[in-house]
Amino acid sequence: MRLLPAPAGSGIVFRRTDLDNFEIPATGRNVAKVSYATSLMRQGVLISTTEHLLSALVGMGIDNVIVELDNLELPILDGSALPYVRAFHSAGIRTQRRRRETIRVLRAVEVREGDKFIGVYPSSGYRIVYTIDFPAPIGKQHTSVDLATDTYGAAIAPARTFGYKADEKRLRDMGLIRGASPVNAIILGARGPENGPLRFSDEYVRHKILDLIGDLALAGRRIEGQVVAERAGHAMHTALVSRLLKDRSAWELAHVPVEAPVEEEVPAVAGRAVPTPALIGA
Ligand SMILES: [Zn+2]
Repeated sequence: MRLLPAPAGSGIVFRRTDLDNFEIPATGRNVAKVSYATSLMRQGVLISTTEHLLSALVGMGIDNVIVELDNLELPILDGSALPYVRAFHSAGIRTQRRRRETIRVLRAVEVREGDKFIGVYPSSGYRIVYTIDFPAPIGKQHTSVDLATDTYGAAIAPARTFGYKADEKRLRDMGLIRGASPVNAIILGARGPENGPLRFSDEYVRHKILDLIGDLALAGRRIEGQVVAERAGHAMHTALVSRLLKDRSAWELAHVPVEAPVEEEVPAVAGRAVPTPALIGA
């Protein structure tokens, strides 16, 4: 996988270098079936597991980029978005002169399915409130993040994906999680994580926020509003994107100036050295 700079206004575009540079823009129009991860499909060409890279891009304020890929699946890395954030830091982020086009939410849009819920509401900035309620040992967790003021690289990017050991065989039999291992996911046994300490005491809900930011990137533009999610997942996240985009009276396109990227601390995890951020200013 290789990331290339793109002109202002081009958005996030995936390019399959193994298929004559076939391009798939990261927009809700191209969302494929969603279960365990989010995938994009256009004219039969698939790109799978897009959410962690898209989350890192939105979290770090990157609107325009070409993502070259020589196969259909994005790398899982360590199961978080931190390796992407580190890579952006070492490549540098340039502020483009054109104003950022955002989706400014004007009134509530909600999706409810049984006890799962997700909604987006008018608010300045981009705030996310998430509640999860998983079987033991996770239980209930609740947290919020405001991308306008909190540092994505420190608060959200390091949170890893997770799975229950008890589900492993069933998922593998379904052909899912073939690459899952203790180096790229928190493996949960009956009493807690089986592979080392957590990076946050509430790492699970933080990872759900990471996924949500990535899935909402498929709206095609950064959202200005507050998102509230309860027991949601990829299917609910992308259902909200479709419902929001369809309801043209619920939002307007706004044009906001972009500040130069903030130099934020990239946390060290698992004893690995942290590269010095090298950012290119405006
Ligand atoms: Zn995830």
